[in-house]
Amino acid sequence: MSDKVKFQAIKGVRDILPPESALWNRVEQVAREVFGTFGFAEIRLPIFEPTELFARSVGGDTDIVSKEMYSFEDRDESSISLRPEATASVVRAYIEHGMQVLPGNVKLYYMGPMFRRERPQKGRYRQFYQIGAEVLGASDAPGIDAEVIEMLMRLFERLKLKGAILNINSIGCKQCRPAYVEILRGELQKVREQLGEDSKRRIETNPLRVLDSKLEHEQGIIEKLPRIAEHLCAECRTHYDEVKRQLGMRGIVYQENWRLVRGLDYYMRTTFEITAPGLGSQNAVCGGGRYDGLVELLGGPATTKGIGFAIGTDRLVLSLQEAGEGAATGVPAGKGGGPDVYLAWFGAAAQAAAIGLGRRLRDAGFVVELPAVDLKFGKSLGLADRLKSRHAVIVGDDELAAGVVTVKRLADGTQQKLAEPELFSYLRAAQAASE
Ligand code: ATP
Ligand code: MG
Repeated sequence: MSDKVKFQAIKGVRDILPPESALWNRVEQVAREVFGTFGFAEIRLPIFEPTELFARSVGGDTDIVSKEMYSFEDRDESSISLRPEATASVVRAYIEHGMQVLPGNVKLYYMGPMFRRERPQKGRYRQFYQIGAEVLGASDAPGIDAEVIEMLMRLFERLKLKGAILNINSIGCKQCRPAYVEILRGELQKVREQLGEDSKRRIETNPLRVLDSKLEHEQGIIEKLPRIAEHLCAECRTHYDEVKRQLGMRGIVYQENWRLVRGLDYYMRTTFEITAPGLGSQNAVCGGGRYDGLVELLGGPATTKGIGFAIGTDRLVLSLQEAGEGAATGVPAGKGGGPDVYLAWFGAAAQAAAIGLGRRLRDAGFVVELPAVDLKFGKSLGLADRLKSRHAVIVGDDELAAGVVTVKRLADGTQQKLAEPELFSYLRAAQAASE
């Protein structure tokens, strides 16, 4: 009997292999560029934090904290959790480093893995990735909300994400929301017996979350419930109207969705969500909103306001793939794209020349595959084909003697002998033609 163990990734987590990882890199690269143009800088955060940070910010009675968090006791018996989201960490860092003294708003973005023990399915994983951004500062001007959303839409445009739909809402503030929640609770009590178990429970714990329900038979009931728009205070109404006006100024199309809520106390006023096609029921690629109370809740100055969003990178990539973006054709999983040059060498003298040439080609930005051992001609060129190299550059004794190389275009087999400067021009021209 063999005692070989076959390891597998844990349920709900996965490897992201080439060539798909190239699409991930592109998404992250474009995000860095777009966010950079809006004055955002990257913050790199720890992957684990004290459990209490999330219990306090996300809320102890949310699903995330009560059921989904990966928490463990550290050797000193303190409780630690893998982060289920990153806003809490950004705010913790903001306070810890005294960033409120910085001029203007502090604009930070992050990207990386998050952990939630949910039921794995398409677009829902236990280790998933987010790209997020936060604006922290003394101002809660509606122009900030509109610009944050503009930045998101610019990113999706640049990535050629088609069919993204922006939903927005205002969920009021400490002044006006409690009264609305009570009215909602009263109405929900009246229809209590028609609701599912989750919603029944939420009548007490968090009536707003009932609006989020996806249960088929609750939809008709929810449609008839009182809407927050009719209960906003004057300040929240003005703020919301101004956000919409400023989205209009930016040419951003949106849908108002009164059922878009965030079930956490510190969220207020603007909330938004973006959906994308090709994702089935997990179609939200981004969620965000204003959270003016959070900095204070975590021990920072009461005057600091905040707004931010988190993009689900897994879902964004999935939607781009479904739309045929970034598909590297014919490349097997585990391999990147084919090289520009397969540098075939034959014999010890040619190897030395090929290593030197390989270095100069790579310095010029070409992707070069250099066989590690001396191969027979047929085998070497066969490998060049299988690797989907665009060119084979051949260095043998004849070439060495003549001070040239043979370059062969593998698509059609045309070949010619070129000196090094001509080789570089030839490859550059080929690269330009293929772009
Ligand atoms: P959902 O309603 O889809 O569970 P959420 O409200 O829990 O989303 P947020 O906490 O607002 O999501 O996170 C923002 C984004 O992160 C979501 O819009 C989604 O794209 C992504 N996301 C959240 N949970 C997961 C997960 N388990 N796997 C993959 N992506 C996720
Ligand atoms: Mg969720």
